[in-house]
Amino acid sequence: MDMKKNNKYRKYEKITKKIKQNIPKYKEMSDQELKKQTKIFRERIEQGEKLEKILPEAYGVVIEADRRILGLKPYDVQILGAVILFFGNVAEMKTGEGKTLTATMPMYLRALVGSGNFVVTANEYLAWRDAEDVGRVYRWLGLSVAVGVKKNEYDKELDKQIIYSSDIVYTTHSALGFDYLLDNLAVEKEKQYIQGFNFVIIDELDSILLDMAQTPLIISGAPKLQSNLYVMVDKFVKSLNFSEDYDLSEDKRSVWFLEEGIKKAETHFGVQEILSENYKDLYRHAVLSLKANYVFKNNRDYVLDDQEIFLLDEMNGRKLQGTKLQGGMHQAIEAKEGVEITNETKSMGSITYQNLFKMFKILSGMTGTAKTDAEELRETYGIDVICLPTHKPIIRTDHEDIIYLTHKEKILQSLELVKDSIKSERPVLISTGSVSKSQLYSNLLLNSRIPHSILNASTAYKEKQIISEAGKRGAVTVATAMAGRGTDIKLDKFSERHGGLIVIGTENMTSERIDNQLRGRAGRQGEPGDSYFFASLEDRVVVENAPDWVKKFRKKQENLSSHDASRQGILKKRKYKKLVYKSQKNKKNQDIKMRKDTLDYDDIVSVLRKRVYAARNTVMEAQAEYFEKIIEKSFEEVISTFVSDKKNLETQKVSDFIFNNINYSYDREELKNLKSIGRKATANILVENISERTKIMENNLSNKYQLNYYRRVIILKSLDSLWIDLADGLVQLKSVVKNRNWAQHQPLYEFQIEANRYFTETIEKLWLDITRNLLLSELFVNPDGSIDIEFP
Ligand code: ADP
Repeated sequence: MDMKKNNKYRKYEKITKKIKQNIPKYKEMSDQELKKQTKIFRERIEQGEKLEKILPEAYGVVIEADRRILGLKPYDVQILGAVILFFGNVAEMKTGEGKTLTATMPMYLRALVGSGNFVVTANEYLAWRDAEDVGRVYRWLGLSVAVGVKKNEYDKELDKQIIYSSDIVYTTHSALGFDYLLDNLAVEKEKQYIQGFNFVIIDELDSILLDMAQTPLIISGAPKLQSNLYVMVDKFVKSLNFSEDYDLSEDKRSVWFLEEGIKKAETHFGVQEILSENYKDLYRHAVLSLKANYVFKNNRDYVLDDQEIFLLDEMNGRKLQGTKLQGGMHQAIEAKEGVEITNETKSMGSITYQNLFKMFKILSGMTGTAKTDAEELRETYGIDVICLPTHKPIIRTDHEDIIYLTHKEKILQSLELVKDSIKSERPVLISTGSVSKSQLYSNLLLNSRIPHSILNASTAYKEKQIISEAGKRGAVTVATAMAGRGTDIKLDKFSERHGGLIVIGTENMTSERIDNQLRGRAGRQGEPGDSYFFASLEDRVVVENAPDWVKKFRKKQENLSSHDASRQGILKKRKYKKLVYKSQKNKKNQDIKMRKDTLDYDDIVSVLRKRVYAARNTVMEAQAEYFEKIIEKSFEEVISTFVSDKKNLETQKVSDFIFNNINYSYDREELKNLKSIGRKATANILVENISERTKIMENNLSNKYQLNYYRRVIILKSLDSLWIDLADGLVQLKSVVKNRNWAQHQPLYEFQIEANRYFTETIEKLWLDITRNLLLSELFVNPDGSIDIEFP
């Protein structure tokens, strides 16, 4: 690994040295004295002293507190890592090097300035474990710590007020994202909880910022009108034949109708020109169904659990809770599997993790594996990856990949290795590419009478237990990829003395980085260990990403028998050895492109989102004069827009308009005798009606607090409902522009133009919505003075 020391690295080393000089001083202090330092630091900060200046002392205090409270004395590399984090970098530290402890130093120092500081972990369990563990140190030193997620589903409701006002919060990426989106749907200042985005340490940063970055986080709200096309279309799609009616791309990730399939669809549904505007919806459903049936695979992309479809986390095989594919894809899969079709919902707000974490003043992270993707992290987030040496040298042996022609040969060979390992009674961890493959592998082991544990999506609750056994003498564990599990495999005495854990990857994953995560399960903290990868030309990553000649080559080889001597040697050639690596590289480039794409679109949405959220915040904090100004403006805009269209001046139109937007009990007879009226007169009539109606509404309210509340809620809710429609519209728009098949088509540019047009239209609607909601809502004043508002 590249251990080049650049200027930054040297600077951090220097600071580390300084910190170490401070340690003896704090060692001598009494508990009381040590605890008092927090107050002293806070005072110094108040006087204007920079955190950077206080760092060497503050770190010294935490180091001593870590020792007294946890009984752990941070190693030099941990202190260095802690400095790296403070300055907003990614610290690459191997598994088992003690990231949890490392975080205590920068967290403490950054939190001295108050709330808005987060440690983001990959799951709820880790947030709780870490907060309970090292949380003791912060508390002892006088800082407040909270956990932003429930411990389990039976846990009591969270008190977000307390959580987010704490100095330090341990939470997950999705909890933080959802709370951010929810905060921006609140109608009262007190219901907005997050106090700021000051400092964040993302644990397993790569799995959050890279692996999860392709799907934006979405808050779903009101159900949309249900479509019954899913089931209808599914039956038809199931009757189609490959290469006759539809075709798949080589990587099997895209599918499309062939001429014949289109014809069949037209006959089947009894329509002409199914591709025309008239049947747009039918055709869209057919395309979704085609993808659901022929691209998505049960047990690889999703699992069926109790008649429900759950997506799977590609990396660790876990069920993704509460995540659904958008745009009807989820419903198409439900139709395919014959389970109940769930509601499609409107998105009430969405954000990518990239844009969520970019809001932090200082973004930092820790992971065992980021160097391979350092360039992307630098470009997207402006953060550097800095590799740390391990506390003790790594003595694990990473064996060279072994590549086979077929999947079957490879698996049988890997099984031989398992058998050998068992003879020596060393613990073995076998990783497979998917949940279904782990089950197949488990069957193979059973047939060979090898007892083992299996770790995958369906046994998530037993995970911790199984991991705690996995390093013991003779243990055999089969797992789906191990990324982000964050639980480290500890060896027992026997295993440590007899060569440590043997990691066997039965399939290279989609990226080198993820393979490295698996290798890192062995040989932690200078322990012995071995890692092997078995690859074949039939592996998913190769099939989907290898250069074209591989396919032809495979075809040719199929004719040779498996014992053919010429075959055995073939794959030892360099060209084949590099294949996995090359495929991974291709895939990585595609992934980078996709993430960039997601981000490019979200950047456009983000500009609009920020404008809306900023407007919301202004309204939230505004006083009476502001509301009056907005309301006046709304009325003016509504009136002038209405009268500017000559057609509107017919009396019928005017009375309809009043009836629908200003006053339900408007007496339409009033205008009946007049045939047409002028602009000025119409405007006057509207003004009259609006002010009359305003008086009636406001008569319900007995004081200015109620009046302000009513006005604020109306303005906010009008803004929100339009933003929700806009955000949802933008999700649809994105898929429309991306699927357009025009020459010289620039989807992103088209998206930008149309998104801005949507936005302008939304603002025009806003004035009318505010007017309508102000004048046509029903108000109920409760005995305690609070108000319920029912919108028209
Ligand atoms: P990582 O997240 O880097 O894989 P953890 O934070 O889970 O590692 O720590 C791994 C183990 O190492 C834990 O059991 C922890 O208590 C131990 N550990 C961490 N730092 C030290 C230290 N300075 N001295 C002794 N043990 C440590």
